[in-house]
Amino acid sequence: MPSPSHKPYRGRFAPTPSGPLHFGSLVAAVGSYLDARARNGQWLLRVEDIDPPRELKGAADDILRTLEAHGFEWDEEVVYQSRRNAAYADALARLDVAGLTYGCACTRKEIADSATRGIEGLVYPGTCRNGLATGRTPRAWRIRVPDGSIQFDDRIQGPVSQQLGSEIGDFILKRADGLYSYQLAVVVDDADAGITDIVRGADLKLSTPRQIYLQHCLGVPTPSYAHLPLALNRQGDKLSKQNLAKPLDAARAAASLADALRFLGMQPPLDANLADLPSLWQWAIANWDIRQVPTGDTASKPDYDDATQARAI
Ligand code: GLU
Repeated sequence: MPSPSHKPYRGRFAPTPSGPLHFGSLVAAVGSYLDARARNGQWLLRVEDIDPPRELKGAADDILRTLEAHGFEWDEEVVYQSRRNAAYADALARLDVAGLTYGCACTRKEIADSATRGIEGLVYPGTCRNGLATGRTPRAWRIRVPDGSIQFDDRIQGPVSQQLGSEIGDFILKRADGLYSYQLAVVVDDADAGITDIVRGADLKLSTPRQIYLQHCLGVPTPSYAHLPLALNRQGDKLSKQNLAKPLDAARAAASLADALRFLGMQPPLDANLADLPSLWQWAIANWDIRQVPTGDTASKPDYDDATQARAI
């Protein structure tokens, strides 16, 4: 099936180097890779090292090595967000010329004292929207968001609709510490890379309307979106670098890949030689069907021990 834009498929995986890859990130990598390869598409890699305070030294290289050990093959050179400030500055300048941005002088505390709660944190109350009070200097740059809803049709989750104005509010493009925001960077990078199809974790589903709005403002195409359920651990918490999810072990790459395939609704044959990564990938690419992926924002991670036992039978 051609991508909605009828352009050749270009997908991507965009890890933040805040720690080693874990099962949850493997699921996102596998889902985006299979969707691209099953449609004879390209699959690009972008290291989202835009936020140095959140990064762990050495994590970017470690992520690339782990992906390699799991049999991923990416097209083109890896893009590093830390080297793309000029592109983000240019996009911000274009939005500014279009009258869509404004400087915001509010401190975190001022916002906390006056904002209402939205679906993802506080909704900026618009204090600086019509100009700064005298004597105040801008700390951050925000974009004005319109009233009305932004909608998209998620290939896994179905129709999604969000009222940007009341549920999110005018959001930040450049932070008080001088760093560009994830929302701006991701839109600029996906557009510059010609990404047609985004497959990623459902933790970013609520970000998508902000990104679609930015695409409209910048006059770039909107890719198609598919948000994969997030893996939960036995305690029902999301696997994340913050809660120290176990790093992937390159020595059991094939078993982890098989677990990720099962998580995505596939049934790799038990008689497959699971130590043989290339055959497992070949099987997965030939059998990928996004309609088998469980819908919903979360799903339980398969139990490693059960999976190992099942294979031994
Ligand atoms: N860097 C983000 C993460 O690691 C993913 C961004 C995206 O796929 O748009 O969660």
